[in-house]
Amino acid sequence: MESARTVIDARRAELVATAGDGASGATDAAELEADARALGAAAAAPSLRPVLNATGVILHTNLGRAPLARPALEAAVAVGAGYSTLEYDLARGARGSRQEHVEGLVRELTGAEGALVVNNCAAAVLLAASALGGGGEIVVSRGQLVEIGGSFRVPEVVEASGARLVEVGTTNRTRASDYARAVGPETAAILRVHPSNFRTVGFVEEASIEELCELGRTAGLAVIDDAGSGAVVEGVAELADEPSVRRSVAAGCAVVCFSGDKLLGGPQAGLMAGTAAALERCRRHPLARALRIDKLSLAGLEATLRLLRDPATATREVPVLAMLRADETELEARARRMQAALGGAGIAAGVERSSAKMGGGTLPLLELEGPVCAVSAEGVGVDELAARLRMTSPPVIARAAEGRLLLDPRTLDDEGADLAAAAVAAALREA
Ligand SMILES: *Cc1c(COP(=O)(O)O)cnc(C)c1O
Repeated sequence: MESARTVIDARRAELVATAGDGASGATDAAELEADARALGAAAAAPSLRPVLNATGVILHTNLGRAPLARPALEAAVAVGAGYSTLEYDLARGARGSRQEHVEGLVRELTGAEGALVVNNCAAAVLLAASALGGGGEIVVSRGQLVEIGGSFRVPEVVEASGARLVEVGTTNRTRASDYARAVGPETAAILRVHPSNFRTVGFVEEASIEELCELGRTAGLAVIDDAGSGAVVEGVAELADEPSVRRSVAAGCAVVCFSGDKLLGGPQAGLMAGTAAALERCRRHPLARALRIDKLSLAGLEATLRLLRDPATATREVPVLAMLRADETELEARARRMQAALGGAGIAAGVERSSAKMGGGTLPLLELEGPVCAVSAEGVGVDELAARLRMTSPPVIARAAEGRLLLDPRTLDDEGADLAAAAVAAALREA
């Protein structure tokens, strides 16, 4: 109705503007109806909807970071469709805590005494800094005053917590002795931040988490570790360049914070693992309520954490880890499948080598080399081809390289690869 009115109004305005040109009434009515239907369909389509990620960037923040494992999806659907035990203790028939569903799992996976989950890692760091450092000073290395993902800036987070930031060391070198010299009567905590999305090389040095925890013990300070990406699965060689949550916990950190939807491969969430006393202070802080996790994310997180208990199951069933470790023959087969589908539609495509990335501000140096399907966009231009693919249903997001469009099989499944190839063929036919 609304779209019919919009189309008729637009046509009326057009007729008034071009009065006397003599448009044909018959074709006009059919055209108007088609326009109204197209407009109606576009208005009914959801704004937040699935896309095919052919970029090869596994944790693409703009495309929603980690795709969920099937058990995580099923858990979110089951819990979202009806009522649940979100805060209900079945044995006692009384109020329970939403934290109970995941607390034991986080403790088991990290070796920590206590655990708490909140809305995201940014929230976890803000809560830890507020609860453990608020009102006092928080000491941070100048090499770790970083910005992550546009709006998370360490100095601003510390300021928002109500603590005063004390900077120590230099951009490239900060030693344990620099921290020790900065500690005074007002010092409440030491914050270590993982510079997730970049690495410094050359004349660089930073204090180890063990040294910081040793200083924390002797000076009576809480050590907060913002580990960011959250490598919790042991024995995955590709993750070795990220800080191990278990190591930070074992060193004696009060709280280690990490993301649910980066290397953990789950829904958006902020995980906190640490000492029982520090987590109790976080739990009691008024911000904990404001930053709490919702039931759909919690359901997905619990299911994901269960998969992570067994490294073999995790690397097979958690999509982020499976894509990270996808083997050459599987990728090659999927790239050839797209090449063949395009060839069948009369479109020249080749299989060549390129690099996929982990993305999401993690493992910035890791190049995941593998085969991709490369399409030359002759006659159309690669930017126009990419634009057309963004308008298909489902939209296909791909990357351009040297005038060609690359379809990376690492972030597509077989069905996605078929759909992506069909979308490219349709987009080039329009030419
Ligand atoms: C990604 C990241 C964050 C923010 O995590 P979100 O879950 O996106 O809020 C905070 N700190 C570090 C070190 C990170 O890498």
